[in-house]
Amino acid sequence: MKTVTICVLGSGSRGNCVLIQSASASILIDAGFSAAETGRRLAAAGSSLEEIDAVLIGHEHLDHIRGLDVIARKWGVPVYMNRETAEAARRAAGGPWDLRIFHNGYPFKVEDISVTAFSVVHDALDPVGFTLETGSLKVFAATDLGKATALVRERLRGSRIAVIESNHDRDLLLNGKRPWKLKQRIKSSRGHLSNDDAARLLSAEDGGELTDVFLAHLSRDCNRPEMALDRITRGLKRKGADGPRIHLTFQDRISPAISVREYAVAEPGKAYLEPARQLLFPGAGWV
Ligand SMILES: [Zn+2]
Ligand SMILES: [Zn+2]
Repeated sequence: MKTVTICVLGSGSRGNCVLIQSASASILIDAGFSAAETGRRLAAAGSSLEEIDAVLIGHEHLDHIRGLDVIARKWGVPVYMNRETAEAARRAAGGPWDLRIFHNGYPFKVEDISVTAFSVVHDALDPVGFTLETGSLKVFAATDLGKATALVRERLRGSRIAVIESNHDRDLLLNGKRPWKLKQRIKSSRGHLSNDDAARLLSAEDGGELTDVFLAHLSRDCNRPEMALDRITRGLKRKGADGPRIHLTFQDRISPAISVREYAVAEPGKAYLEPARQLLFPGAGWV
């Protein structure tokens, strides 16, 4: 039975990086922290840069590529991007790297994980989110999107784990001290997803397979972790023990790590086994 483990090493406008591991692959989504800091956070999650098989880059903003050049050159980690992002990232961050160009919408393999990039709307050249699939397990990851398009909703469908942006509370954003131009950029359809937007997007899918949700890219000034948590939880249809578990992510430290494994297939005459998931930090057994 396949298992996937996921830990958000850090998320926010000062750096983003997510670790996803299967039986044979360790993948980073984004490289928004220096290589040294990424290494420290990987160690805290029980991994290391030597173990990483691929770094996927969603778009070229600095909070997603700050550590990319050193991670790719010094540690030799293969870098996966689409062409537009690669050109912008190379201008900003250097190279040469072991660069592997993907096309949005076309799956590619990293060991036993099938990765598909999908377009999101954001003020970058060709920004994408990702789904990662192994066996029947699907992980969805998208931050930095101005709105949940039909494509985004379609890609979320059937996911067991979602890392999803819950960037700002609309009132805190509109009443905050930021310049009006910046407020407009954040709340525009090419900016960032609000708590309300994330709640709406998730509520459409929580009748499905979803068991764990990581709320990512929370704004430091225009959001509060408890507000995001409350708004998302209120928006869910399946609540309590039955519903998806919502996990916060942090700018300055790693999130809890969650493992999910494939559903056991019911055998005739035997009870159907409950889906299994495990909270790794702090240590706990399968639940
Ligand atoms: Zn970002
Ligand atoms: Zn961005």
